[in-house]
Amino acid sequence: MLDKERLRKNLDEVIWNIEQARIAVSEHHIVKLVTVGKYTDIKNIETLYELGQRAFGENQVQQLEERTVALEALPLEWHFIGTLQKNKINKLIDIDPFLMQSIDSLDLALAIDERLERKERTMNCLLQINSAREESKSGVPPEEAKDIYQEILERCSNIKLKGVMSIGAHTEDQAIVQESFEQTYQIYDSLQPDGATVCSMGMSGDYELAISCGSNLVRIGSALFK
Ligand SMILES: *Cc1c(COP(=O)(O)O)cnc(C)c1O
Repeated sequence: MLDKERLRKNLDEVIWNIEQARIAVSEHHIVKLVTVGKYTDIKNIETLYELGQRAFGENQVQQLEERTVALEALPLEWHFIGTLQKNKINKLIDIDPFLMQSIDSLDLALAIDERLERKERTMNCLLQINSAREESKSGVPPEEAKDIYQEILERCSNIKLKGVMSIGAHTEDQAIVQESFEQTYQIYDSLQPDGATVCSMGMSGDYELAISCGSNLVRIGSALFK
């Protein structure tokens, strides 16, 4: 467990950096901070809540379930940001996250939609784009993203698509990371007429760059728990 002052200092620093980056884009450019709890324990999530943080992300259904149950009394907004195995779809629907950020194929969308239909439920989701084109990363190829997005809109009436998510290229080369963010932003921008409002990109190592490329939601873990 980190002490509260340490967490406060880290959170303040992250919020300050987000502010600087977003104001450089435009004073009207608003960025949401989703803090990612996967490296930390539930106590630190509670402490972040006490410090004013409300939106939290988890990349495992099991952990998301445990934490939503344990922190049920707090008014938190939960995001699912990990790879979803098909056998966990029902569980995720029951958890009812605020936003499922990681639909990484049409196939997964169809499977989620079918379960939602059966349960008479809907879910807010993002389409994950593999703009870094890395084998190790999930997501649809950038050149197919727009078509897949529109196909989900047409075929999956229980999925409420809100935009796109991507993980920046895993390299020290800022130009390459920037290129992957710019590509995601372009796709997001082209989908705004289809109702896309969320462009989720940027993590501890690259959130300022992501914001300068148009991100309006950053997912930050390790920078808070160092
Ligand atoms: C872990 C994770 C993050 C946060 O990563 P940090 O680099 O620790 O900020 C963001 N997005 C996804 C999808 C993750 O799995």
